[in-house]
Amino acid sequence: MKLYNTLTKTIDEFVPHEAGKVKMYTCGPTVYHYAHIGNLRTYMMEDVLEKYLRFAGYDVKRVMNITDVGHLTSDADTGEDKMLKGAKREHKTVMEIAKFYTDAFFADCDALNIKKPDVIRPATGCIDEFIKTIEGLIEKGYAYEAGGNIYFDTSKSSGYGELAGHNDATENLMVGVRDDVEEDSNKRNKSDFVLWFTKSKFEDQELKWNSPWGMGYPGWHIECSCISMKYLGEYLDIHCGGVDNIFPHHTNEIAQSEAYLGHKWCSVWFHVQHLNDETGKMSKSKGEFLTVSLLKSKGYDPLAYRYFCLQSHYRKPLTFSYSSLDNAAAAYSKLYAKVASTEREGEVNEEEVKAFADKFNAVMGQDLNTSLGVTVLYDILKSKSNGATKRAAIDKIDEVLSLGLKDAKKAENAPTDVNSADVEVPEEDRWIIEKIEERKAAKKNKDYAKADAIRAELSEKGVVLIDTPQGTKYEKR
Ligand code: AMP
Ligand code: ZN
Repeated sequence: MKLYNTLTKTIDEFVPHEAGKVKMYTCGPTVYHYAHIGNLRTYMMEDVLEKYLRFAGYDVKRVMNITDVGHLTSDADTGEDKMLKGAKREHKTVMEIAKFYTDAFFADCDALNIKKPDVIRPATGCIDEFIKTIEGLIEKGYAYEAGGNIYFDTSKSSGYGELAGHNDATENLMVGVRDDVEEDSNKRNKSDFVLWFTKSKFEDQELKWNSPWGMGYPGWHIECSCISMKYLGEYLDIHCGGVDNIFPHHTNEIAQSEAYLGHKWCSVWFHVQHLNDETGKMSKSKGEFLTVSLLKSKGYDPLAYRYFCLQSHYRKPLTFSYSSLDNAAAAYSKLYAKVASTEREGEVNEEEVKAFADKFNAVMGQDLNTSLGVTVLYDILKSKSNGATKRAAIDKIDEVLSLGLKDAKKAENAPTDVNSADVEVPEEDRWIIEKIEERKAAKKNKDYAKADAIRAELSEKGVVLIDTPQGTKYEKR
């Protein structure tokens, strides 16, 4: 497989450290709030990568942390702990919100057919390992104590900043540090980062642990290095995250892990570009907070969002809008219906299945080209193969794409194109048609709030509206 590597900045042939085995690490969510659909784009593309590697025959072990301590509102170690902020917002304890949002995260993953990694560890469950690693870094001269905190000395790390493309160790020190946020004057270098906090301003921190440096809690970066080393050993094949993680988080992970191990740690860095909304950056606090539940409440199938993401390449920024989601939803529901109406008839022709799987393998093996991967599904449907062969090939490919096609069945209430003259609408559904007409008029008058309210009202009553290029259809769930 060929995969783009942020470290080398080229598309390279993927070669794992141990033949046939892949050790893969994913930065997990900071569980102070719901994940937005941008965060979930990243987890979805990582899920596709993991499943594709398994499809290609690798034995994959994947580990993910849950950040339940140490991630401050600024990635540059300043501001408030995100977890504390979330707990204050909801008048709950940090542990209560960590549990609530961890469960919510996995429910979203489930809805999007994102598989759970093999090992999932909250940061608060590995404090002893963090302390041991920090002690090792101090012994080796890579870390120092200043003003009560323990810092990593980035000037000692050769190649610091290589991942982010900052080639001069002194130049990079300024990057990611904003002048308007408080700076710890005790640091030796601007880019030095906290391994362990004991600063007095965090004395009211609910979560704190005893350490050789006093009562405190770990910095954000150390958790990923330690959890990865604990479960995946000294050599990591692929480390994943969103592009915002490149600096400072992943840059710092590399510095501390390689300083601790004394050798190169991870060979491939896989980063997913952001999902943006039409105003720019996706946010949990400003504008509409786009979550899976919100999409569901507006009548969208979460898998239509999966389809939407698969249509674009993970290394391209993607802009979210309801009209593009509508198009994806319409295409997804047509695809689903086509698969559902393909009966598993005849004998499976294994050679033909293999030929389709090879075609899929060829496009996905080129830096995970998911949009071409989806196209193979249409090629199968259009082919002359019998129904059983088509369905078997789709099943195989859907192990990776996970669009819920394996169990595709003809819906009892198949979508009805209300604009089509040949469709006879049953009497008991007349009220739905009236609502659809009312919504159409609202949209024409650019009263989108009213149009949305009608969609939501129908959705609550179990009626999902699907806007297709041929008109609005409805489905009763
Ligand atoms: P967090 O919970 O903030 O630690 O973020 C979880 C994951 O989502 C990380 O891998 C981030 O890099 C990623 N991420 C953050 N914002 C976006 C976005 N707008 N689009 C895609 N991924 C994102
Ligand atoms: Zn991480």
